[in-house]
Amino acid sequence: MKKIFLIKISLIILLVGCKTLNTDSENNAKEFISAIKLEASDPTSYANTITEKEFEKLLTDFASDDMEGRETGESGQKKAAAYLKSYYQNLNIPSPATIDYFQYIPKEFFNGSIKKSENVIAFLEGTEYPDELIVISAHYDHLGINANGGIYNGADDNGSGTTSILQIAEAFAKAKKEGAGPKRSILFLHFTGEEKGLYGSRYYTENPLFPLKNTVCDLNIDMIGRIDDEHSNAPNYIYIIGSDRLSNELHLINEAINNKYTLFNLDYKYNKKSDPNRFYYRSDHYNFAKNDIPIIFYFNGVHDDYHKITDEVDKINYDLLTKRSKLIFYTAWELANRKNRILLNADY
Ligand SMILES: [Zn+2]
Repeated sequence: MKKIFLIKISLIILLVGCKTLNTDSENNAKEFISAIKLEASDPTSYANTITEKEFEKLLTDFASDDMEGRETGESGQKKAAAYLKSYYQNLNIPSPATIDYFQYIPKEFFNGSIKKSENVIAFLEGTEYPDELIVISAHYDHLGINANGGIYNGADDNGSGTTSILQIAEAFAKAKKEGAGPKRSILFLHFTGEEKGLYGSRYYTENPLFPLKNTVCDLNIDMIGRIDDEHSNAPNYIYIIGSDRLSNELHLINEAINNKYTLFNLDYKYNKKSDPNRFYYRSDHYNFAKNDIPIIFYFNGVHDDYHKITDEVDKINYDLLTKRSKLIFYTAWELANRKNRILLNADY
């Protein structure tokens, strides 16, 4: 705490100082980096409730033909929403007080022929700083059914992210039940309308259930159950996008967590500002980032089955899906339990 304060002051002095002081500024930034220490207790016993077996069961349900490709506003998406709601009810994880798990989005909010739809939201209240919120998000809609009757089951896109949130929620709920609940609140946010144009996340950030200024960060998950061509020989990886754009502290915490618990190759290829894919702007986290809320986007990259009816459950790598979900859980746990909420780069 004290060290951060001192560095803040010195950075301010350096910022108004002359050019030759830039090196010192960089040194101070390095000092800040080395000063990052993980503060939360080790939650491995809760992380271990996230299992391959449970993923297999959840994803087989969620990415089945019964869900009709989960197209926004259509009957399959409603079935998927009901599935998510009943999962939280069964675990006694409540919704935010103002809604009954569904945040309804009127037809008028969408363009064209898209029908009204809903985000699905669950909430675990923090024990010490309940007003401060860690958002864990993933879209649950997908592409529906094609003209030949082929169903886009979207096991990876985004059955993987959706079921990842479900298992992370279960781990947090177990901790809370045992008297070790997170200090900050956790919002589990399942967005609709992503494939049609990031509608669900835009609606939420324009109509937030909790003030955006109290929203500490968004950890967004979109496709984490597969391996892309680039990593076929070294699959122990995950692409990390956006973590350092608004908060170096967030970036460093994610790295420290990975060093301690999961030991992935964190691939920052798509985080480069010059990257032509522009993934930073292409999933729901961007609606938080544009409101100055730090984000991390967790992603496995694209593959041959991306947006095809062959994105099926039997191609999911459950070992990786489980381990990547643990990384997100551990990071969320640290963010929720640190003494101070993470700082924006602009704040120091
Ligand atoms: Zn997606």
